[in-house]
Amino acid sequence: MPRAAQAPMPTLQLDVALQLLQQSGRSPPEGDPSSPFWLQSVIDALVEISSKDALTGLANRRAFELALGRELDRVARSGEPALLLALDIDHFKSVNDTHGHHVGDLVIQAVARALQDSVRPMDLVARVGGEEFAIILPNCPSSFGETVAERIRRRVEGMPVAIGAPGAPQTLSVTVSIGGAFAPQWVRSTPVLWIERTDQQLYRAKAHGRNLVRLEPSAVSLVSSEERRMLFDQFQAQEHE
Ligand code: GH3
Ligand code: MG
Ligand code: MG
Repeated sequence: MPRAAQAPMPTLQLDVALQLLQQSGRSPPEGDPSSPFWLQSVIDALVEISSKDALTGLANRRAFELALGRELDRVARSGEPALLLALDIDHFKSVNDTHGHHVGDLVIQAVARALQDSVRPMDLVARVGGEEFAIILPNCPSSFGETVAERIRRRVEGMPVAIGAPGAPQTLSVTVSIGGAFAPQWVRSTPVLWIERTDQQLYRAKAHGRNLVRLEPSAVSLVSSEERRMLFDQFQAQEHE
């Protein structure tokens, strides 16, 4: 049988890779470009720009969606509760309109820092849109959800954002609305459904006046212990297939 023509081997185009790094504001790694360590540093930097948001350094939407899928798998296997929060800066358009896009960017960066500073290292904070953020909180008991979301809301509310020029200090206050939903324990779900349920709560928070937290009532009590056992047994059986 004649051998099928082999597709040409894809090659890493270093000039394109370095251009991408430059566009994201990074300089090429130092050292000897013919060394494998140098190439590894280029690859590491590419991986980082593909998963991080350039303005804030938080996880970007792509990294967030991957992490959300992994977290859902973990919850379905372990039954540990996990909370997803969706956060949106209130009246952000008027910040841009009044103070300019540059100040808007400063506000987004300040909110990003406040969010990152108010959660545990194991929680994932992501910028998922212009002035929209999401936080995945693994292993977060349902009794603790309201407390942690309120703590984040208050942290942003109480944070003055420095927007003045040197010699002319000026600060601005902003608030966020927060919606949240727990992953359904013991039951398979999808990232899209989890995000939808969380977004519905965010809309409620906006509709009720903003600078508020709204969490979906935890569904865990609706699942009987028998159902949990059955679902868990079913999972274990699937794992051993
Ligand atoms: P709400 O309280 O209902 O959330 O009102 P809002 O004004 O925050 O919401 P809206 O969605 O109307 O405005 C979001 C604005 O965010 C519009 C857009 O111009 C701005 N924006 C999106 N991305 C960026 C960004 O990266 N930097 C800046 N400065 N502004 C951005
Ligand atoms: Mg928005
Ligand atoms: Mg907004």
